[in-house]
Amino acid sequence: MTQDLFRTDSYLTECNATVTAITAQGIVLDHTVFYPLGGGQAGDAGALLLADGSEIVIADTRKGKAEDGSFNADICHLPTNDVLAQLLGQAQSGDIRLAVGDPVTARIDWARRHRLMRFHTTTHLLCHLVPQLVNGCSITPDYARLDFNMTEALDKELLTVGIARLVAAAHPVTVGAITDEELDANPALVKSMSVQPPRGSGKIRTIRIGSVELIDLQPCGGTHVANTAEIGPVFVTKIEKKSASTRRVVLGFAP
Ligand SMILES: [Zn+2]
Repeated sequence: MTQDLFRTDSYLTECNATVTAITAQGIVLDHTVFYPLGGGQAGDAGALLLADGSEIVIADTRKGKAEDGSFNADICHLPTNDVLAQLLGQAQSGDIRLAVGDPVTARIDWARRHRLMRFHTTTHLLCHLVPQLVNGCSITPDYARLDFNMTEALDKELLTVGIARLVAAAHPVTVGAITDEELDANPALVKSMSVQPPRGSGKIRTIRIGSVELIDLQPCGGTHVANTAEIGPVFVTKIEKKSASTRRVVLGFAP
């Protein structure tokens, strides 16, 4: 089981950790700052710095899977295929040596992650501006898209202006938690039709935007900036009619 430090502090860029497993799924650490692909948000990239001064580039991060295909509590750091094959002894051994029990420093590509955090937080602002259920979401370092379950048209310029207003208002973004029972009593908090919050642990993580004025509140396991002002200039680059009942909003940064 990997302790996920990014859930309590999304601004951590690195941590010291110990290798607990090396499998075909990747390198597993006892704790990490790397966010694994989930909830529409891309997995982190970065590097593991080894004690001998060498480093292993991490291209992606995924949740570990059990043999039956269900997710377990491991977070798998994926090096390039040839490095992973070397570590597993399936390819000619190169210069990289890593074994279970070794200490590493896990460091994310912060510039990339910060873009993901800015986009991810903007998708919550879109949920405020477009009060409709979401049936798809993809957040990458270069663009983000959110699919709304609706038939009405959306206006690209109006949404961009709406986002800019919420960014300029500098609303705080805070992490909270609710119980399964509280969520059952407030089903409207779940705005996603495609991603259901994880139940069973007793507490479900929530993200609230706005202090006195509530802009958005929903269960979410992703990483966000601490204040909407930090989002900076984000634009709606495209609105697509993906299907009769789906409107896709695509977000981009200023060129
Ligand atoms: Zn979120």
